[in-house]
Amino acid sequence: MPSIRCICDHIISLGAIPSPNKYLVIPDVTVEDFVEEIKANPSDEQIFDSLHKIAKDLAKCASCGRIWIDEKNDNVYRSYAPE
Ligand SMILES: [Zn+2]
Repeated sequence: MPSIRCICDHIISLGAIPSPNKYLVIPDVTVEDFVEEIKANPSDEQIFDSLHKIAKDLAKCASCGRIWIDEKNDNVYRSYAPE
């Protein structure tokens, strides 16, 4: 099961579909293209394909609140800690 070991040592599980620990972040500049793709082919498959193509995966640690982002969609997550 995919997971992230946070710097605080908490394990963030990403294996469930859908995962309660995972978020999809859509860059603002791609929203219009996303909407146009969906309008052109409003099937469930197209919606999920388009969404996963443009969205960045984000995970939040339930223990320390760190945010982990896969910015390049290569399954390499970089962390950001709350101040
Ligand atoms: Zn943590």
